[in-house]
Amino acid sequence: MTVAHVVTDPAIPAGRFILEGVNVEKAPLFSVSELAKVFFGRSSYWVRWLEEQHAIVLDGDPQCSHTKTAKEMRPHPIIVTEAMQKRRKLPADTVGKPLLDKDGNKVTEEKMTDVQVPYFDTKGKCKRCKGQKVGERRTASGARTYSLADVEQVAHALAQAGKITGTQLRHALGVVDLEARIWEYI
Ligand SMILES: [Zn+2]
Repeated sequence: MTVAHVVTDPAIPAGRFILEGVNVEKAPLFSVSELAKVFFGRSSYWVRWLEEQHAIVLDGDPQCSHTKTAKEMRPHPIIVTEAMQKRRKLPADTVGKPLLDKDGNKVTEEKMTDVQVPYFDTKGKCKRCKGQKVGERRTASGARTYSLADVEQVAHALAQAGKITGTQLRHALGVVDLEARIWEYI
């Protein structure tokens, strides 16, 4: 796999991964919080926030939202109209405000609503920009887990999305490189 760098730095090998062709599947493996802490100096909340934004996508269009608009039934508060106020004999100042039930809760109705939903195929490729979701590996029990190769891809994806700086990318890749040496992969 090649990577289209948006960040160029003499310390970062251009156009290839440090762990290209190296099998690092077995160990070491990092949890979400280890990934955040060890490589980026952040917390697991940060990683989950990035995931919610679909920011961990490699070689896509950084401007692409990787989502599409879909229609879904969602509850909306009913707003009191003048006709409704007269018919229901409600106080005059309720017009234009949400309709409340006798307990003071907003009355809602289900309406077709535009919502943004992820736009990836079954292999995690964005159907619009063809970017690849990375860092999707899970343990048998369903927890996120990252090999060094996954970390490397996540780091590049975050730099491409502008979520980390070139310096942060260089530092993260520096740790990947060191870990790969400690584990005698390279
Ligand atoms: Zn996309």
